[in-house]
Amino acid sequence: MNLENDVKYIKGVGPNRVQSLNKLGIFTLKDLITYYPRDYEDRSKPKKIIECQDGEDVLIEAIVVSRIVELKIRKNMAMYKLTVRDETGVCNITWFNQPYLKKQFIYGEKYSFFGKVHKKSSKLEMNSPVFDSKNTNKHTGKIVPIYPTTFSLPQNTLRQIIDNGVSQVVNELDENLPQYILKKYNLLNINDSIQKIHKPQSFEEFKLARRRLVFEELLIMQLSLLNLKSNWKKEQKGIKYSNKIKMSDVINDLPFKLTKAQLKVLEEIDADMESEKSMNRLLQGDVGSGKTVVSIISAYKAVKSGYQVAIMAPTSILATQHLESFSKMLEKYNIKCELLISSITKKHKEEILQKLQNGEIDILIGTHAILEENVVFKNLGLVVTDEQHRFGVRQRSKIVAKGNNPDVLVMTATPIPRTLALILYGDLDISIIDELPPNRKEIETYSVTKGMEERVNNFVRKQVQEGRQAYIVCPLVEENEEINAKSVLELSEKYKNEIFNDLSVEYVHGKMKPKEKDEIMQKFKDGEIDILISTTVIEVGVNVPNASIMIVENAERFGLAQLHQLRGRVGRGEYQSYCILKYNSNSEIARKRMKIMQETTDGFIIAEKDLELRGSGEFFGTKQHGLPEFKIANLFEDMDILKEVQGLTLEIEREDPKLEKEEHAGLKKLVNEKFSGRIEM
Ligand code: ADP
Ligand code: MG
Repeated sequence: MNLENDVKYIKGVGPNRVQSLNKLGIFTLKDLITYYPRDYEDRSKPKKIIECQDGEDVLIEAIVVSRIVELKIRKNMAMYKLTVRDETGVCNITWFNQPYLKKQFIYGEKYSFFGKVHKKSSKLEMNSPVFDSKNTNKHTGKIVPIYPTTFSLPQNTLRQIIDNGVSQVVNELDENLPQYILKKYNLLNINDSIQKIHKPQSFEEFKLARRRLVFEELLIMQLSLLNLKSNWKKEQKGIKYSNKIKMSDVINDLPFKLTKAQLKVLEEIDADMESEKSMNRLLQGDVGSGKTVVSIISAYKAVKSGYQVAIMAPTSILATQHLESFSKMLEKYNIKCELLISSITKKHKEEILQKLQNGEIDILIGTHAILEENVVFKNLGLVVTDEQHRFGVRQRSKIVAKGNNPDVLVMTATPIPRTLALILYGDLDISIIDELPPNRKEIETYSVTKGMEERVNNFVRKQVQEGRQAYIVCPLVEENEEINAKSVLELSEKYKNEIFNDLSVEYVHGKMKPKEKDEIMQKFKDGEIDILISTTVIEVGVNVPNASIMIVENAERFGLAQLHQLRGRVGRGEYQSYCILKYNSNSEIARKRMKIMQETTDGFIIAEKDLELRGSGEFFGTKQHGLPEFKIANLFEDMDILKEVQGLTLEIEREDPKLEKEEHAGLKKLVNEKFSGRIEM
């Protein structure tokens, strides 16, 4: 048994299924057995026929009291009917297109059936149930796992494949958690946990198995962060900036008054910069809260103390935007800013690289291009990354390596609740800007359903006629899902050629070349485009003060935090702005989400609610939130376990920070796997 074995060797997996499994992220036996159920169906508790409620999934045990009847409905479509009864009532069962059923049932025998029932005036019907004859338990009589899957891989097939995989590893898995931890925290061993998470005999068993797996996942995440932290704080001294260079010189010169929150954060940064320990600080603040100004003032201090500064932005547009802001504010202090993005000419680039090395450039602003090896600083002292959660930790350390232990300021607009941020960014100190500059006009948010479409379109037209611009954002569930990609295109064609054919409408999407994309974005910024249609958050952070409308199509498909980010694209200028969430769902959760968006513009509240709602079974990729992805842990539900894990992590940090003790060998292995594996933190 080798956990790294390709899934193609698992019983029941042919070439087509390999593809489907790969799509789910399952490549190896290990991936397979750690592909956990998203839910369970309790098929273990039979109900009497009379107790069944309309619409519920139930197990009944009943005697067959009819022959099976085959009805040809049309070509290639046959229906099979069977009547069964228990001592409380009768139930009519139907199936479609399953001729093998004709020989399955013996008149007068008892069977178990599990399926959805419909009750019409006391008559009970069950559609396409699974069933077992007496004394067999293939489909019923147990708790059955439900896995997240796609159309191409039916639930039953996936369940069987996983079951085959899980059967291969019975008692074969190595225990990587030390015995003392299992004992102290009352955790199930790994072999039982894997068996029971997939095949629990009771919900108690499931809970125990889940607890162990969540504990392990969170512990490894925490230990990985610990590892990073100790890598970064290599005992080495950082830069001690001069206390003669005063941030207040710039602050007093600004055209506006900084908010209390901005001032507090600047004090924290100032203290870090003047101390000889190097700064590793996360600056969290909602969109528009004024993080950029903070970074500009910090950069001033670094430059005037004799160092260079690197600013990394996730896109060229944002980098260009930053260059404008930085130059505008720092020109008068004779500070030289330059832009390094992939689209500049070779000649210009060489010039920049030369000047950078000579120290003629003080602040270099750019994209990933800054990471290239030939980008050499004379004296890099401060690194600012503006992460709309795009850079991994590894990229961050790559830029840091270009200096001699420079200070690092990481900016993010993802509003993570503080408790969570402390845990997730355990390697950074945290500053929060929790206040917006005064006199911002609150964005008005509306959620609308299909029937309102025309009114919405008229509203957009009216705003454009008044000189404003609009964004229309469509979801793209998966970048490579052809069907969705097409429908977005169709939609934009409709807007372009029919609904707004008299306006200037353009479309940007993820598959465009960066250069094309940038051109369109620039045109939008310059006001040459009235309505910009885009697939997702391609250009978060873009500042177009004249844009006053954000329309989100299929808003039910976005997470709250993402909707909040999108909404932050408008309301950046003097104009009253609007966010219109078009949604297409009757689900309770969708309505709740829309309501939250209408009720609050506080990113932190929204982030908390988002976690809460996701906790209740809705699933959204965590990547878009900038949080690490978990296979089983849920940061909201598992806060208690997280606290236990934090305590333990602190203990390990004290006793054995490098995991060198024999008893920690397994943990070390897991941490290393996390670093070398597909997981990017
Ligand atoms: P963020 O980077 O957090 O999204 P920015 O730094 O881009 O926000 O600030 C958004 C806008 O608000 C900018 O135009 C900036 O000049 C302005 N601004 C920042 N701080 C203040 C303040 N204290 N008062 C008024 N305007 C401010
Ligand atoms: Mg910004």
